[in-house]
Amino acid sequence: MEKKETRVRFAPSPTGLLHVGNARTALYNWLVARHTGGKFILRIEDTDVERSREEHETQLIEDLRWLGLSWDEGPEVGGPHGPYRQSERLEIYRSHTEQLLREGKAYRCFCTPEELEAERQKAIAEHRPQVYSGKCRALSPQDSEARAAAGAPFAVRLRIPEKPLRFHDIVRGEVAFPHETVSDPILVRSSGVPVYNYVVTIDDALMQITHVIRGDDHISNTPKQVAIYEAFGWPVPEFAHLSTILGSDRERLSKRHGATSIASFREMGILPEALVNYLALLGWGPEGGTRETFTAEELVHEFRLERVTASPAVFDFDKLHWLNRHYLKLADPARLLHLAWPYFEKSGWLPAQDHAEQQIGAWFAKLVALFLPSVDCLEQLPDKARFLFHLDVEAARTDPENTAILQTESAQRVLAAFAQRLRENAAPLTPEVFKSWMNSIKAETGAKGKDLFHPVRIALTGAHSGPEFDKLIPLMEEGSQCALPTHVASVRERVERFLSQ
Ligand code: GLU
Repeated sequence: MEKKETRVRFAPSPTGLLHVGNARTALYNWLVARHTGGKFILRIEDTDVERSREEHETQLIEDLRWLGLSWDEGPEVGGPHGPYRQSERLEIYRSHTEQLLREGKAYRCFCTPEELEAERQKAIAEHRPQVYSGKCRALSPQDSEARAAAGAPFAVRLRIPEKPLRFHDIVRGEVAFPHETVSDPILVRSSGVPVYNYVVTIDDALMQITHVIRGDDHISNTPKQVAIYEAFGWPVPEFAHLSTILGSDRERLSKRHGATSIASFREMGILPEALVNYLALLGWGPEGGTRETFTAEELVHEFRLERVTASPAVFDFDKLHWLNRHYLKLADPARLLHLAWPYFEKSGWLPAQDHAEQQIGAWFAKLVALFLPSVDCLEQLPDKARFLFHLDVEAARTDPENTAILQTESAQRVLAAFAQRLRENAAPLTPEVFKSWMNSIKAETGAKGKDLFHPVRIALTGAHSGPEFDKLIPLMEEGSQCALPTHVASVRERVERFLSQ
């Protein structure tokens, strides 16, 4: 048998930001396409004119590109099955409706909203399922034509066969819905607007989609779509409905749980490779292993839809941070410098990146390297480095733990000795000189260990713990030589200010 090329699609509605749930759907589709050497198609489902926005589409495209999920057919790249925006395909839907009406697979329904509501109320009173009675099913084609020609408004409904609607779901196995639960679904509203289930099926069929991979919020739509495929005599694709993503309280993941849009993760300074890795693990795991870090290439190699679990996945921000720290460690320093810069620029601590002198770039690279191991995401860097730009001596002195240290006589002697050496030596302080001074101060004052180093650290940074002096001292000394919008004080300036307050 000839092997059919796998064709999958991601079909977002541009009605808001791309969130983790949909991004995972996009990723799984992309992985299936890349794993099988098939095609990944992006289709914009913008038939809801009220809620669809161009800026959402632009953002969506930007987010997918940022994640590295490139598409083979779709907006911006084109392809043989376009257009790839539903709003540009209305004529296609219209001609298909005519075909179904002509063949008697669909019929016009002239029931008014009031009639439908009355039917619904009656069904409730009689404890029957609230589905359409099929009243207009029996209209003769002549009657139907005549009423339409006379201008009576009508919706178009699919004539559902009286048999269970079945489909195969790769995640859930065989799924069957009794036909009564589906009734005769509306394909086109009386306003002339075709409904989601209808257009999605036409598009999937014409775009030759072989696997429909999407969120399980669509599972109850699938029998209707299957009935539409069957009405047209089209082959029914495979389906894979992905489980819901939950928050830590096991409620559906939402804004309440924190940031969930892809744009917000990018703004925080989560790397795309970390997010891709994390999203892949939300409902999938590799065969026989506990491994958790995967590059995109490794995911492409390992990913199998058959290993996607039907049970809900719980979104774990700590794990995402853990993965981000892993990828921050591996990332190219020049890339990190470029990504970290805007956070400092926004704080008013760095000049605009494009015009900055090389000296500033080299200095900032050291800053990033020093603080990177202590952050979950890049957005946290300025806070870690704040003391370089702003040292609140008052706050440092009044912090209870610091006060206890500073009050001791030994601390005062250490600081006085340190200040004296700084006054006697005009040259910038190097880590080597610092080390020899600390040795001589130790000998002179008898202070050692914490008693020796904590007072100095408090004077320089405002806290008694922090990064190694070897790295910290050059950062302060070199920073003070850079023409920055916010001055970075040298070691000498810091000690003088500290002692003067
Ligand atoms: N536009 C639909 C959504 O965003 C697509 C559903 C589907 O993949 O069929 O939920």
